[in-house]
Amino acid sequence: MSISYWNSASDKKKIETDFLVIGGGIAGLSSAYWLEKKFPTSKIALIERHKIGSGASGRNAGFVTCGSSEHFAKLVTDFGPEKAIEIWKFSEQNRELLKSEVIKGNADKLLFGSTGSCTVAASDADYSRYITLADTMAKLGIDVELINEAKIKSDYAVKGFKGGIEYKHDGEVHPILLLKELRSLLKNTEIIEDQEICKMESDAGVYCETQHLRIQSQKVLVTLNGYLGLFWPNWEKLVRPQRGQVIVTEPLPKRVKGPCYLTKHLCYFRQMPTGELLIGGFRNLDLENENTYSDQVSEKIQKALFDFTKDFFDFTADAKIKNQWSGIMGFTPDGQMIIGEAPQFKNVHLMAGCSGHGMGLSFHAAKVLVESLNDERAIPSHLGLNRYLAML
Ligand SMILES: Cc1cc2nc3c(=O)[nH]c(=O)nc-3n(C[C@H](O)[C@H](O)[C@H](O)COP(=O)(O)OP(=O)(O)OC[C@H]3O[C@@H](n4cnc5c(N)ncnc54)[C@H](O)[C@@H]3O)c2cc1C
Repeated sequence: MSISYWNSASDKKKIETDFLVIGGGIAGLSSAYWLEKKFPTSKIALIERHKIGSGASGRNAGFVTCGSSEHFAKLVTDFGPEKAIEIWKFSEQNRELLKSEVIKGNADKLLFGSTGSCTVAASDADYSRYITLADTMAKLGIDVELINEAKIKSDYAVKGFKGGIEYKHDGEVHPILLLKELRSLLKNTEIIEDQEICKMESDAGVYCETQHLRIQSQKVLVTLNGYLGLFWPNWEKLVRPQRGQVIVTEPLPKRVKGPCYLTKHLCYFRQMPTGELLIGGFRNLDLENENTYSDQVSEKIQKALFDFTKDFFDFTADAKIKNQWSGIMGFTPDGQMIIGEAPQFKNVHLMAGCSGHGMGLSFHAAKVLVESLNDERAIPSHLGLNRYLAML
């Protein structure tokens, strides 16, 4: 959104802060959380164009995972085993930090479960590949177990799969309850909702404007993820928006043990503690149209999700669909996040590009971002914005 000459009047309400966080998702709230810890006497504001959690953070599947085993195999191919394990461990630390700092004794209240997760093999060829993959992961110190067809049927209630790899320590949560809990931990952050930052300038400090506010801040943290390209259009080539779609059934008898990935279709599912089955993914069926900022649902992908629900489980034949929605994710070219200072604005730092794994990454990534502000901590090379400066 742009600001008109008529609306750029000097009578806008003025706010001065030490830190301004832009974006009210898991990344923004986590950034405010770590800012409060690191700079306890600072003035902090967080601004969100709609309500907290109205972006992907309130629209996701609630997997608190390190990703699928296929994802790990790709990390090994793309980055080599040493970096792959560093990237995997970063997510493990994210989960442990969430547990120790936010979830604490409130697992039941937040519907958080340490269920483990599973990547299912769609064919015999996949299963033989998984035998080797499970072995590689175990040798690298990842606690996985290969499971056979019978166990896939009994623990995940799916038909036609050959087996899978279970990773023991992942979990699932109610994402909005997690955001609410994180928000409740913020004691020193002014949260401003329904205000969209439309303009930014920087000299000694940074000046940000909405239609009604002018905010001056020493430092700004931009946590817009998939929406970054709407704010800074030339960044869209670096953080590509990708829509993810989901359906949820009415409550069914509880049969699915934990979060499950079927990477062949970029598809995933879980069953809530209250019985509703959630199925998401299939954006690979329509990649061009899913490259969008619109959070509508599309007939093509919703049909694929519906057909999957009916065809692949042994207890869903008459299940009715209760909810359908979508959200916008942000993808960098190598699939890893970017964290760093924006080259065009001094004192403006950002994190973005957490793909389909923001719940599994952002709390830890925000800690790295905040600790990098005064050079206390180096940003891991695979997350550093430096690797892409030439593209901007
Ligand atoms: C359907 C779906 C399923 C997913 N499932 C999972 C999962 O199970 N596990 C997992 O780890 N990840 C999952 N993800 C990915 C995860 O949701 C995201 O990676 C994560 O939520 C990103 O968090 P964020 O805070 O960076 O971005 P967002 O949550 O998108 O927050 C950005 C915020 O910025 C606000 N904003 C935008 N422009 C402005 C502006 N100019 N001024 C002020 N505010 C602005 C937006 O309104 C938004 O609230 C899923 C995503 C989708 C869409």
